Parts: sequence; structure tokens; C-alpha cells
Amino acid sequence: MKIANKMTKAVDLVQEALEKVEKYKDYNIFTFVNAENALKKAAIIDAKIKKGEPVGRLAGVPYALKDNFLSPEGETTASAKILTGFTSPVTATSVKKLEDEGAIMIGRTNLDAFAHGSSTENSYFGVTKNAKDKTRVAGGSSGGSAVAVALDIVQFATGTDTGGSIRQPASFNGVFGLKPTYGAISRYGVVAMASSTDCVGFFTREASDLDLLMSITAGRDPKDQTTLPDFYESSEGDKKDFPGQRAGYDRALARDTRDDGLARRVSREVLSYRIGVIKDFKSDILDKKVKELSAKGFEIKEVSLPTLKYALAVYYVTVPAELSSNLSRHDGIRYGFRSKDANTLSDLYEHTRAEGFMPENKRRIMIGNFVLSSGFYDAYFMKAAKARTLIINEYEKAFRDVDFLLTPVSPNPAFKIGEKVNDPLAMYLEDVMSVPANLAGLPALAFPAGETDNGLPVGLQLLGPRRSDAELIKFAEENL
Ligand code: GLN
Repeated sequence: MKIANKMTKAVDLVQEALEKVEKYKDYNIFTFVNAENALKKAAIIDAKIKKGEPVGRLAGVPYALKDNFLSPEGETTASAKILTGFTSPVTATSVKKLEDEGAIMIGRTNLDAFAHGSSTENSYFGVTKNAKDKTRVAGGSSGGSAVAVALDIVQFATGTDTGGSIRQPASFNGVFGLKPTYGAISRYGVVAMASSTDCVGFFTREASDLDLLMSITAGRDPKDQTTLPDFYESSEGDKKDFPGQRAGYDRALARDTRDDGLARRVSREVLSYRIGVIKDFKSDILDKKVKELSAKGFEIKEVSLPTLKYALAVYYVTVPAELSSNLSRHDGIRYGFRSKDANTLSDLYEHTRAEGFMPENKRRIMIGNFVLSSGFYDAYFMKAAKARTLIINEYEKAFRDVDFLLTPVSPNPAFKIGEKVNDPLAMYLEDVMSVPANLAGLPALAFPAGETDNGLPVGLQLLGPRRSDAELIKFAEENL
């Protein structure tokens, strides 16, 4: 990371980023530009540096914030009409931690409305263009964040990954994208999609930057009871709120507290990782990478995960169920947009929701309500929950034989804008290789692995057991 110091002024870093925001305007990356606030904050940091006062680990680093993170800077819309006009009174825990270290938000980035999608074509603000080919999609849902990093506008960007929304756009634009272990980073202040799979994560151009960002943001949060203890413990907040716990990021700690698979490798004290490839998840780029890693001396094993064929179906039952419940709070009373065309209370609810949600949001709300309805709950929602447990167990078993799994991120590179937009099922198929990590709560790191003949970036992803985030990043730093 390029951090402000005596030589590099924060104001210059911010100014440079803002100029690039302007230069790449036609990519439709940002839903809001934070110019005035950003420059003010940068000036404060520069003044501190001048006086020799301490500044944070991200002092003056410009970053982009996916527009589903709450903070009072700019409207938080989640790229949905129904949230337009909504300025948050609260700040997401992850945002607060980044800002406490001196990071400066340059702008909010475009996504598929409420993060439902794989291309940003479901955004109320239109599609974000791919960093390498403007006729193609950025991927999604965190398309804006991926392109902001790929075009070097900012040094890092935040994302959320419910079923691939960090990894797939990272892969489509040639950058790193980390979806951490479920519960690693607080979800407090992040617009909820599906609470049992949502994860906060990051886009960077260097693997080592992911390590720094995790060390700053991961850890217990009293405002999110699903956050994990002893996980990259670091922030002042952790120390204050959980005084008994260790503070200070320590890779060895992350390693020690790991489940069975890791402990064994550490006790062997041999860094010869065993890397699994999944029988049904293959690609040319993957083959090439496997040869490379094998030549470096890593043991490659083929792994069979028969329940994976159910993962997409499980995802598209479980996630709509959860999101239909999470989206019920948008009623035209509490946040943002309200329909003008309403004479009664139920008209107000109905018209606000009809006008404010995108078609894909509505489709998922309908599916969610259907699978949760009394006649179908057992046949769909419960069945999916049971199948999900089988998937989780199968991964756990696989990680007794291998340390990591290496798979493609998506079945194809960035597709043309408009190509899948009228075919929701084709769009859902995009997610077939990314959703399993979310269902099982596993960390997964997407990294640039090559390109197609016509120059489109292609990423691969490395999955590890829960809590192996530090190890994945270290492996990527050293070997990918
Ligand atoms: N593309 C997936 C979906 O549409 C994942 C979205 C996400 O991770 N937010 O559900």
C-alpha cells in the first residue's frame, strides 16, 4: 500500500484518485464521489504527519466503498431505487475500523441492487463496464469495486460476498478478491442480503494488502453476534470490548486455532501443501496452474465432492428465503424512497415496493416467500438446509486429505453486456463454482491466473478450511 508519510502527501494521493475517478467516468463505477470530505480528511492527516503525530496503518490511502456499506458520507443506496435518498445515521464496523486507521473513502461503488446478481446489470444506476473490455460486464455484484481497483483508481475496495460477489468480479477484472471465513469481519452496518452467507471482504492488486486489511477489520464485534473470537484480533475495539482476548494480529495464532487439517500440517512443520482439485470443476487455466504448482513441489490430489451438484439449488432456495425476510423492512416508511402514488397505507407499501425494487429483487422475494410458505417449507427450505449440512460435512472431510482446494471462480470469463440479462437461470449458473464456499462458510481467495486468447482476465480461487484465511493469503503471496 502506498501510505501517506513525510514524502507522500495524503492530499496528493486523494487528488490523484479523484482525477482518475473523473478520467474513468464512462465505466460507471461510482454511485457517489466523496471529493470534499476526502480532501478534508487528507489535509488533517498531512497536518498530523507534519507535526510528527502518530497516524494509522492506512494513513491517506484512498479506497472505494461498495454502496451497501452504511456510513453518513453520501447516500447508501445498495444501487436500489428504494434506498435512494437514504443517508445512514450509523457507520458499519468495518468502515469505522478502516477509517480509524486513516483510510479515506473516495466514493461509493455500483452493484447489482441489494447485491442480487452477477453483472451489475441489476443496478438501478446501470451497468459497470469491464476494466479490460467496455463491451463486457464488470461482473457482480461488487462490479464497481473490482473495476475501481483494476483501473488503479484506488488501492483497495470493499466488497460483500454472499455467493461469489467478490470473487467473480475480481476474476473478471484481473485483481485479488478475498471472501473471508464466515464471521471473520463484522456485518454490522452492511445492507443484509442473506444473513447466513453474507461476508465482508476486499479487492486489492497485491495479495499482501489483503493481509493488512484483514488484520485491521477482522475480529469480534459486540454488534454482530456471528463474529468469531480470536480471529486476526487487532483493533482497539476488540481490546476494549473483549478484554480477555489476545490483541495484535498474529499469523501463528490464526494457524494454531485452526481446525484439524491445519494443525496437522503445522505439526509436520513441512510447508508442502497438499492442493486438491475438484473432479467436476476444471478449466484450461486451472490445468496450467496445477502443472506450475506441481513443478514447484506441491502435492496435487483429485478430490470428489458429489454433493456439490446440489450447491446451486441449495443456494437459490436458502438465499432467497433469507433475503425475502431481510428485505421486508423496506416499506416506504423507514428509509429512502416513498411512492407518491398512494392514498392508503397498504397502497404506500405496495407501490413503494413495486416501484423501488428491481425485477431481480422481486423475483427473489417471490421465490423466498414461496419456499418459506407453510405448504412448501418442508419440501424446499428444510430440504435445502439439510443438503447444505451434507455439503458442509463433505468439505470438512475433504480438508482432512488436502490443505487447500483450487478451483475456477466461474464457468466463463466476463460476458457481453446484455448477453444473459433476459435469462435469469443463465445468470444463476454463473454462480455454480462460487456459492459452495458461502454455503460452507469457508474462506476463498480469488487471484489473477491468466487470460483468454482475446485478453480477458481469468481468475482462480483457493479455498481452505474455516479460519485458514491467513494461510491462504500467505500462500498466495508466496506462490501465486
Ligand atoms: N451472484 C450471486 C447472486 O446473485 C452472488 C451475489 C452475492 O454474492 N452478493 O446471488
